[in-house]
Amino acid sequence: MANTTANGPGVRTVVHLAGCTLGCAGCFNKWMWPENSGQEMLVQDAAELLISGGFPNDLSLSGGEPFQQSPAVLELVLALKAKNWLKSLFIYTGLYPHEFDADAKVIFEDLADFVVAGRYIQRKRSTDRRSYAASTNQEIYKRDVDGVMRRDVAGELRARTEILVTPSRLIVTGLSEYRTLEQDMEETHESSASL
Ligand code: SF4
Repeated sequence: MANTTANGPGVRTVVHLAGCTLGCAGCFNKWMWPENSGQEMLVQDAAELLISGGFPNDLSLSGGEPFQQSPAVLELVLALKAKNWLKSLFIYTGLYPHEFDADAKVIFEDLADFVVAGRYIQRKRSTDRRSYAASTNQEIYKRDVDGVMRRDVAGELRARTEILVTPSRLIVTGLSEYRTLEQDMEETHESSASL
């Protein structure tokens, strides 16, 4: 998806990677949980599409869960960097840094500019419109001027919900600012189960 302003700073391209096994209650992207919910593509073809497609070269990767296919994500990021296409990289992951595998660690420590990490926890849902964290437990990291990835303070980044109209689809993206009926039902079910 091109020209989004709700998936990181500035005007960005966002790529959603299909497949997530983390199962957060209230997930906004539940339809992307199955591995086959997206369009299968070779990494080099995906890189070529981004490079030749005229998309903004500030890239956000979201899910599904990008780091459950970290080797492919690393290959993609390196291919984009090799062609001098990638200006900045923002990653939304449901994993915490201590859960990252070797490839995810390389992306986190050496390549990404921003990372929002950790499960979405519905009862901790963030209502802070200044933060990119969907729930307050999530950790926001930003690369500082010395090139070191550091925890960021909520409020430095901005979040918005955005509705994009395409010839074939209406797309709601970013962090939901509204409760959905599904979330209400899930929360009611959780509360009842804990009584
Ligand atoms: S990690 Fe993200 S995509 Fe996966 S279930 Fe949690 S909120 Fe949904």
